[in-house]
Amino acid sequence: MANVKFFSGEQIPLEMHKVRIIQKLFLPEIDQRLQAITEAGNNTFLLKNRDVFLDMLTDSGVNAMSDRQQAAMLLADDSYAGSETYFRLENKVKEIFGMNYFLPTHQGRACENIISQVLVKPGTIVPMNYHFTTTKAHIVLNGGVVEEIFMDEGIEVDSTHPFKGNMDLDKLNKLIDDNGPEKIAFVRMEAGTNLIGGQPFSLENLTEVSQICRSSNIPMVLDASLLSDNLYFMKIRDEQCKDMSIHEITLKMAELCDIVYFSARKLSFARGGGIAIHDESMYKKFQELIPLYEGFLTYGGMSVREMEAMTVGLDETMDMDMINQGPQFIAYMVDELVKKGIPVVTPAGGLGCHLDAMRFVSHIPQNEYPAGALASALYLISGIRGMERGTMSEQRNPDGSEPLSAMELLRLAMPRRVYTLSQVKYALDRIQWLYENRALIGGLRFYEEPKVLRFFFGKLEPVSDWQERLVEKFKADFGDSL
Ligand SMILES: *Cc1c(COP(=O)(O)O)cnc(C)c1O
Repeated sequence: MANVKFFSGEQIPLEMHKVRIIQKLFLPEIDQRLQAITEAGNNTFLLKNRDVFLDMLTDSGVNAMSDRQQAAMLLADDSYAGSETYFRLENKVKEIFGMNYFLPTHQGRACENIISQVLVKPGTIVPMNYHFTTTKAHIVLNGGVVEEIFMDEGIEVDSTHPFKGNMDLDKLNKLIDDNGPEKIAFVRMEAGTNLIGGQPFSLENLTEVSQICRSSNIPMVLDASLLSDNLYFMKIRDEQCKDMSIHEITLKMAELCDIVYFSARKLSFARGGGIAIHDESMYKKFQELIPLYEGFLTYGGMSVREMEAMTVGLDETMDMDMINQGPQFIAYMVDELVKKGIPVVTPAGGLGCHLDAMRFVSHIPQNEYPAGALASALYLISGIRGMERGTMSEQRNPDGSEPLSAMELLRLAMPRRVYTLSQVKYALDRIQWLYENRALIGGLRFYEEPKVLRFFFGKLEPVSDWQERLVEKFKADFGDSL
């Protein structure tokens, strides 16, 4: 779609799909938004969807399905055991990844539970390019330790590196030498590295990591939840992939790994998950746990309708026109923000656009949660719901002290194929207004702070009357309350 040239010379992403089902949206007035965010304890997780205009909290389970997916859902074969629906899915996974075995699960973290139970023994280490919250939790639960071995550039906010999700090979070699290969439970590569801004790795990097694993007999696991974004970036940024089809790149990636697992809440625009495996003996070890935690082997906790949607969605993932909308809209958003001098993570990744709160509201100290305050302020002035990824998302140390996060980001996720360009332009306009008025934004403090996962359920209050002053300025500038 980026190949279509506009006569005007303007470069905007052009959708290669049309909308055929709509959901009405509601934009509450700013006074209602102030009430809603106050009731939610300034925590965007606690907002009710009815008070939200553009929901950019996450890309999980909220991606738009295609007409072919919806049609397939009607043809689902409901059966506990041996359903045709399941075999269609199994065949599609084997075809796309070129792997011999498949196990269905109810979502991505369920795969992580099963893989960790089998492969992680107390005292073992799992090196990875970056952790994901649920992945780390399951490894730690089984007595393992996560070692993040990203490149230094991976966590630089401002960068031009095309593959910030790459693993640092020297660090991997050193870790294996220092601990011995038998101490390494498995090496995990995460496609479209979620927590550092949806950043991809290159095919070359995956190949080299795989060579290291194979020469030391260490299992290699690919978390393919954000595979579609990584594939898109490989195709446009990776010299090695220029002449390969999306399917050929996928086959090559899977060939380099022993296990590929994914959350279908992201990959395939559906809900569910699964594990694909090359080797029979490994498959047998995982297979035993599926009926225990997920369900019978021909549904794994998923509804047959979702499985049909997955089968078609996986097929559509091999089509560039089906997977480019998300990353191209994000690139548009990031480019426009950069032009306006608004601090944002670069280069553009998949998943969403990440505002750098550390610079956006540099006057707010980290113990007053700059990214959380920015999330609250953006909702207040626009009805847009983002997600804090900073100090609020950290857990307190056992002595009660608070670790300060290395980054303070406000993530604005871009559900795939859901929003239009005018909605993205609205978001850009309100972000720009907020940036001009950033001096008015103040900090937050907890008044209800749960011990675990405080970012989900914690409630905070503003440290001053900054929200009222922001509302006043908004009304003065826009002359009304929307
Ligand atoms: C979302 C996600 C998971 C977990 O998947 P769920 O379906 O939410 O359980 C695992 N890994 C990555 C990279 C993800 O983005």
